Amino acid sequence: MTGAPDRLVAPKRAEEDTAELALRPQSLDDFIGQKQVRENLKIFITAAKARGEALDHVLFHGPPGLGKTTLAQIVAREMGAGFRATSGPVIQKAGDLAAQLTNLQPHDVLFIDEIHRLNPAIEEVLYPAMEDFQLDLMIGEGPAARSVRIELPPFTLVGATTRSGLMTRPLRERFGIPLRMVFYEPAELETIVQRAARVLKMPLSKDGAAEIAKRSRGTPRVANRLLRRVRDFSTVAGHTVVDAKVADDALVRLEVDGRGLDAMDRRYLACIAENYGGGPVGAETLAAALSEQRDVIEDVIEPYLMQLGLLMRTPRGRLLSEAGYRHLGLAVPKDQKRQLDLLAAGDPAEEA
Ligand code: ADP
Repeated sequence: MTGAPDRLVAPKRAEEDTAELALRPQSLDDFIGQKQVRENLKIFITAAKARGEALDHVLFHGPPGLGKTTLAQIVAREMGAGFRATSGPVIQKAGDLAAQLTNLQPHDVLFIDEIHRLNPAIEEVLYPAMEDFQLDLMIGEGPAARSVRIELPPFTLVGATTRSGLMTRPLRERFGIPLRMVFYEPAELETIVQRAARVLKMPLSKDGAAEIAKRSRGTPRVANRLLRRVRDFSTVAGHTVVDAKVADDALVRLEVDGRGLDAMDRRYLACIAENYGGGPVGAETLAAALSEQRDVIEDVIEPYLMQLGLLMRTPRGRLLSEAGYRHLGLAVPKDQKRQLDLLAAGDPAEEA
């Protein structure tokens, strides 16, 4: 998935984000937010260490930019083990995966990002590796082909996915520790932004941090990126401290609105309102109408709009909510109002 590289609020990783490295929290105690995930991980890591075992396989799922990779690295560090990373689309052949697996040391973490995009034939290699720490490989071709079994050290597979629904069930079920990442609260993002500003040696007032936090789509990667852009505006304008006013001016110029929506989000909402009478409309249709990849629509744009209650997903498609209309400054058409009222009343035909 390429995402929309020119989108400032795109939570996908971009080149400049090497600066992210310096901002990554290094331990579970440093990690802000995701309280439940953190607490669970702490218990499972402590238990695995006490027994001298590798941690059971972990699956993180949730929208991009919420800290899945960061947590995978933290898991390795807390286990006192090594960390290796790859991603679903990168592993082309069973041999690629075998090379990664046979290089592991006991208790190491192998991180596979976008694991839902793993080729099914390669998944089959992963099953015995995850379950019994064994690798069954076919050597040679045709009648001379034979299968060899390689013992692997006990390791932890950490998978990350934006769409666990796209994973096959046998793969999903082999993760003993599935963890769901949620959007961050503004107060948590405020702390993250303040910490990043300290690393960047950037004077940021409390209200400045709050302003950036509430416009960051609940996503630390977006928060850090907005912070850097605001810093650019502030440097050029010659401000000594970034306060709410400075942050707001910069964010308005960047077309990020009061709730963190950018031009693309508004285009998405407006498209449903104006071209499809408020919906329901299918994701495929919207992707075509907006010339955007369906993945980006479903993984990046929609989760946050739904979180804000501007959008609803029904079996018949996407539906703009009353709040969605309001956000666009539009009145809800009468027919649509009736449809939304029925939905709110729990019309069983409409339930997602
Ligand atoms: P994902 O793998 O879910 O796409 P990452 O782990 O790459 O997300 O996180 C994106 C960036 O956001 C990281 O570089 C890190 O700086 C920052 N980040 C994520 N979670 C946190 C957090 N809880 N506290 C501070 N920074 C965070």
